[in-house]
Amino acid sequence: MTTRTTAITNATIITVDAIDTVIPGGTVVITDDTITEVLPAGVAPTTTDIDIRIDARGGIVLPGLINAHTHLAMTLFRGYADDLDLQAFLDRLIPAETAVLSEDHVRTGARLAFAESLRAGCTTALDMYWWPLASLEEAEQAGFGLQAGPIFIGFDGPDRTPWNDRLERARATAPHRWLFAHGTYTMEPTQLAEVGALATELGTRFHIHAAETSREVDDVRSRFGRTPIELLDDHGLLRPGTVLAHAVVLDDDEISRIAETGTAVAHCPASNMKLASGFCRVPELRAAGAVVGLGTDGPSSSNDLDMFAAMRTAALIHKGHRLDPLVLGAAEVLRMATIDGARTLGLEDRIGSIEVGRRADLVLLDPDSPSLNPVFDPISTVVYAASRADVTDVWAGGRRVVEHRSCTTIDMERTLAEARAEAEIIRG
Ligand SMILES: [Zn+2]
Repeated sequence: MTTRTTAITNATIITVDAIDTVIPGGTVVITDDTITEVLPAGVAPTTTDIDIRIDARGGIVLPGLINAHTHLAMTLFRGYADDLDLQAFLDRLIPAETAVLSEDHVRTGARLAFAESLRAGCTTALDMYWWPLASLEEAEQAGFGLQAGPIFIGFDGPDRTPWNDRLERARATAPHRWLFAHGTYTMEPTQLAEVGALATELGTRFHIHAAETSREVDDVRSRFGRTPIELLDDHGLLRPGTVLAHAVVLDDDEISRIAETGTAVAHCPASNMKLASGFCRVPELRAAGAVVGLGTDGPSSSNDLDMFAAMRTAALIHKGHRLDPLVLGAAEVLRMATIDGARTLGLEDRIGSIEVGRRADLVLLDPDSPSLNPVFDPISTVVYAASRADVTDVWAGGRRVVEHRSCTTIDMERTLAEARAEAEIIRG
């Protein structure tokens, strides 16, 4: 088998390694899907047989960003239910989804989402949505690192599948890397127990919305006598491999339990602000030792898949909320969007940093962008000044999936035509 080698030279490499090393004028060598050399200025690659050389001209190269919580195919409901709280948002959205959703709809929405994500430097996402196997197929073609699996909700759901069929189908299509439950407020505790048992039986990771709003917490407590976090704990679902989306409304004991059980949190700052859910206690979670990744949430609630915007929002809102400019510095926030996102997904040995042996998920920023000049601290530049419009090229698993701001793996003409047709169906 022939190998394919790419060298990106003269790059400002933000490695996000254990000590946040930044390498000015460095070189990254990609062999097939893997990073095989990361070199300082003036050191030539030992690999001599290089097929493609890219001169970054001083541009920043960072790891592919990792979206730790989203609903990708909801690109097709972008802007459909804005300026509402969570319950009003769901009340408007779920009937509309139920009316139009199909496997083809999900394929189109997911493909649009992969294009948006890749062009914005995001190469991996944890995606909770219907028809996950269809999205996984589309992701394979697009070269997108999709983390998906069967999803459970207490009623038939937009895919019109009764509970027992859902369980059977999940078993029949195993193995899966993930099982998803929508939330403790949208299912009975007995159903939560069934999904938890299935996750254990199938050896999958587990993802659920939890403690997103105080209304949800009050509702769950009044119905079941326990908070969402306590319910998950009761069912043994606070454990390594579990990711809680949002976790906004937490008391001190819950933060301790999340940290000591090795449960991860996906922080979605833009969604939490837009739905006025509140401020996740990220500083306390991190101080307690919990793993916290960063997500956009679905493009119907946030309304994009822009991890640069997510980073900047996370870096800003907690400072404003705490009246403390030292809370969540740029390097911490970049880690949440990269290596801590990888830890959230259990992929920290494969993605999330630019180090030899990692999967070659890389993002190159435009060295000539006015908003990226001058650069005193490349990490600050990425978090506080860069936008997705500055992304020029992206490699995912060594494939150059974005080249000069265009997707190379996705038929955009077809995808946009299909997305517009789906929007017409939603309009009715
Ligand atoms: Zn969500």
